[in-house]
Amino acid sequence: MLRVFAGLLLAATLAPLGVAADGDRPNILYIMSDDHGYQALSCYGSEIIDTPHMDRIAKEGMRFDRAFVTNSICGPSRAVMLTGKHSHINGFTRNGKRFDGSQPHLGKYMRQAGYQTAVIGKWHLGTDPTGFDYYHVLRGQGPYYNPNMLTSNGPVQHTGYTTDIITDVTLNWLKEQRNEDEPFMLIYQHKAPHRNWMPGPDHLNDFDDVTIPEPDTLFDDYSGRTSPARNQTMTIAEHLSPHDLKLVPQRRLNEEQTKVWNEAYEEKNRKFREANLTGKDLVRWKYQRYVKDYLRCVQSVDDNVGRVLDYLDESGLAENTIVVYTSDQGWYLGEHGWYDKRWMYEESFRTPLMVRWPGKIQPGSTSDQMVMNLDFAPTLLDAAGLEVPEDMQGKSFVPVLDGSQEGSFRDAVYYHYYEFPGPHSVAKHYGVRTDRYKLIHFYDVGTWELFDLEKDPKELTSVYDAPQYAEVQADLKEKLKELREQYQVID
Ligand code: CA
Repeated sequence: MLRVFAGLLLAATLAPLGVAADGDRPNILYIMSDDHGYQALSCYGSEIIDTPHMDRIAKEGMRFDRAFVTNSICGPSRAVMLTGKHSHINGFTRNGKRFDGSQPHLGKYMRQAGYQTAVIGKWHLGTDPTGFDYYHVLRGQGPYYNPNMLTSNGPVQHTGYTTDIITDVTLNWLKEQRNEDEPFMLIYQHKAPHRNWMPGPDHLNDFDDVTIPEPDTLFDDYSGRTSPARNQTMTIAEHLSPHDLKLVPQRRLNEEQTKVWNEAYEEKNRKFREANLTGKDLVRWKYQRYVKDYLRCVQSVDDNVGRVLDYLDESGLAENTIVVYTSDQGWYLGEHGWYDKRWMYEESFRTPLMVRWPGKIQPGSTSDQMVMNLDFAPTLLDAAGLEVPEDMQGKSFVPVLDGSQEGSFRDAVYYHYYEFPGPHSVAKHYGVRTDRYKLIHFYDVGTWELFDLEKDPKELTSVYDAPQYAEVQADLKEKLKELREQYQVID
């Protein structure tokens, strides 16, 4: 008996690097970028960018075509991901709040179950991380260059491009700091491609010689929707600043970085000033400048995701590591004339989601099941073989991942945005989306919108109160009421 036990111990000690020593509990690498719209990933069919490394996760795993967030804004999305609870329950309804780190969440549950937990990169929850053995995070939003970061061992001043630095720290943790005898959950989160879209030194001149196709709603006049769509302040035409457009010197760059930066932008800016553009031509120029800088930032994230995936392969970790790639929400790349997020309209309501899990997920598969960031914590706990706490409001979509799900995973999703008054003046709203329809209530303004997504996928014309939709409208209102009860929303 004793000999058998000793033999098991030896086997555990000699377990190959990629396999958790305490059985086959999978490691988890959760990658989340900030404001990365699915329109800017080639695995989602984008024709304006090539993202080979992110695409690898989809090719070797599953791509979700209907992954949604509960509240399309940075901090709240992160709090939902950690807690598995809607914003009104976890308390973080809008940016500027401070996350109550004393509440239970994914990091704490995984740690209690024997996982090593680490969070590296963007955190943006106002309070220091709890529930992580190691953290190395940006302060607040964090700059694109030369970040000062908070760590479990005090502050650290870095020099260089933030996307590269976050990856350097991540690789260092994987190689040098983790305990190889325990499974890990590593949360690796980029600041990019958040505003103000400052490209890294390797990509400053990407896309210089191409014209990015414009979305056909770039000059949307909002005539088919209620007043909130007109009254926002996030248009490419009017609300991008000279700083966003790189027409003025950028802050925080050191002397050497400034030199490289100026070499990239001075000539482009000179040509722009000489052209003296006005009207729609000026909007078109702003669109090109904005989207190209955004895509340049995504390109660096893709390079860096590739570095981490390569290390998982080289180390043998890949075979027992679940890799998730997502964003804290989607984004407007000129659709409706906008940049930014916040709305329940598809571009910002949806978020990219690809998951790789060798041996469990059929490589190259796709799913149109409606999953949410609310489900991420329950899913990861379930994947690790742990019970999902009853008070989490999301549910595990492991059955979707492993192909055992029969029928639809859920028939409707609930959304609620709170940040008004606030940046970009998007009115508060909540709503419900089903397979085909979407009902939105701008409750402070007192208007409703209803979209038939099959007939009007770009959501240009609300059919609220149209007689032919009377029954659909009544059913959606009932569904909305049901969901608000289920999620314990208090009016
Ligand atoms: Ca964000």
